[in-house]
Amino acid sequence: MSLPLPPLRDVIARHGLSAEKALGQNFLLDGQLLDRIARVPGPLEGERVYEVGPGPGGLTRALIGAGAEVTAVERDRRCLPALAELSEAAPGRLHVIEGDALAIDERATVGEGAHIVANLPYNVGTALLVRWLDAQDWPPWWRSLTLMFQKEVADRIVARPDTPAYGRLAVLAQWRSMPKIALPVHRSAFVPPPKVMSAVVHIVPTEQPEGVGIRTLEALTAAAFGQRRKMLRQSLKSLPGALAALDVVGIDPTRRAETLSVDEFVAVARTMQSPRRPGEDF
Ligand code: SAM
Repeated sequence: MSLPLPPLRDVIARHGLSAEKALGQNFLLDGQLLDRIARVPGPLEGERVYEVGPGPGGLTRALIGAGAEVTAVERDRRCLPALAELSEAAPGRLHVIEGDALAIDERATVGEGAHIVANLPYNVGTALLVRWLDAQDWPPWWRSLTLMFQKEVADRIVARPDTPAYGRLAVLAQWRSMPKIALPVHRSAFVPPPKVMSAVVHIVPTEQPEGVGIRTLEALTAAAFGQRRKMLRQSLKSLPGALAALDVVGIDPTRRAETLSVDEFVAVARTMQSPRRPGEDF
């Protein structure tokens, strides 16, 4: 669907939306790139999307154009008139909330089953990602995440063991969901261009492994990666039950955290929650 709207550059100029560094504003104006990002979650015809930080509405246009009904939360009230125009051009397809995405009760606002899409400043994006991945209920209220990150953060989310980028974020992202880098985005695509390259990450929830809770897994990875250069027998020694669990699972305590696969972390956390003696059958 093509919306009857003026070019984004004109909208930005007319509403005086100069990018504010303090709000982490780097806008995307290239319609083709925005359409590619809007295709990352999959077909959006009739789907609900929760967009965080629509700014002047470039990505919002692409999402509506792909057939989605969008609920968007934006903190910068200067953007609201531009978003109101977009709302008028696509009646019933865009609901804008003025506010801080870190403060709203998004589940109550957006409801179950929405795709989340966002191009956010680094610090806000990472805080929200951890919140969305950290949900007690699984599968979570959202269907998928399509999020722009600095390339370095995207690499940490999808990192494999035995690489410098592998750590707590990789385990948190991979133990019950499947993260992928969907699209590298060159810094020159943004106005103004940031200092670093970016990438769009796509995350779809998978089944949660049985018998493991997020809190145990977090305590384990925090201790293990808190001293990532040390052997596990050192880094885990003050975490109750962790060394015994390594023994039960059959993991050599002289290994370092970054050599353990996500499945191995899950197995150790499961055993910590439901301890068994070495040699006992599973
Ligand atoms: N989505 C637009 C685009 O792709 O061109 C704008 C992206 S810009 C990087 C980030 C947007 O997020 C800005 O409009 C900014 O005002 C908004 N923002 C920053 N922090 C926010 C927060 N805590 N809650 C809601 N919006 C926020």
